[in-house]
Amino acid sequence: MTVGYEYVFIALMFGIATGIIGRAKGGSFFVWLIVGSILPGLGLIAVFLMRNEDNEPERQCDNCGKILKLYVQVCPRCGYDLYLPPPEQTRMPPQ
Ligand SMILES: [Zn+2]
Repeated sequence: MTVGYEYVFIALMFGIATGIIGRAKGGSFFVWLIVGSILPGLGLIAVFLMRNEDNEPERQCDNCGKILKLYVQVCPRCGYDLYLPPPEQTRMPPQ
């Protein structure tokens, strides 16, 4: 009984599926291709659970007013250090 070839084929199928979903969610196709190939099934579950970038809460930079994702810690426009704002200052992007 040979294991290698079928396993590689299935892993690659999982990898490609994971990569496509990862890319659709704003991630890197190749990163998710590798994750999905190394961890067939698990990688696919991980990419399904990954939150879509567009659904991340947003807030405004205190210094320049640029709209940033909540997890951004330094404003890329003005370099201002950002701390987690109070909940009432965050909002979900319009759908
Ligand atoms: Zn700023």
